[in-house]
Amino acid sequence: MDNCIFCKIVAGKIPSKIVYEDDEVIAFNDINPAAPVHVLIVPREHIPTLADANEKHTALLGRMMLLAPKLAAELGGGYQHTPEGPMGGFKTLVNSGPDGGQEVYHLHLHIMGGPRPWRSER
Ligand code: 5GP
Ligand code: ZN
Repeated sequence: MDNCIFCKIVAGKIPSKIVYEDDEVIAFNDINPAAPVHVLIVPREHIPTLADANEKHTALLGRMMLLAPKLAAELGGGYQHTPEGPMGGFKTLVNSGPDGGQEVYHLHLHIMGGPRPWRSER
């Protein structure tokens, strides 16, 4: 999509701090982080919103969700079970449409984590 900022990041036409990439998805730091760790997991395919995904995207969506805890842990926002109880952690978020607070119309999964307090609750 010519006018899509995340398609341009996927294509390398706009710089970003990429923290992960494979054949189907890339992940990069959010330009305006709401938490110490704030990355966006983005499919290479231009899917405007979660409401536009279909059965063909089942594996892709599963891959994105399973990547979230791994990336969070690598970047310092991981969750751990410990003898003292649950520690650390992160939030996963997909905004869809105007009432869902979506600003960029290329599907993305926010991963926000790291020690509190965060700038906002998002
Ligand atoms: P949404 O509200 O659509 O769920 O979130 C869009 C996110 O994309 C926002 O958190 C915003 O900071 C981030 N963002 C918007 N433009 C850019 C950009 O050019 N580069 C990066 N790295 N993040 C962006
Ligand atoms: Zn796009």
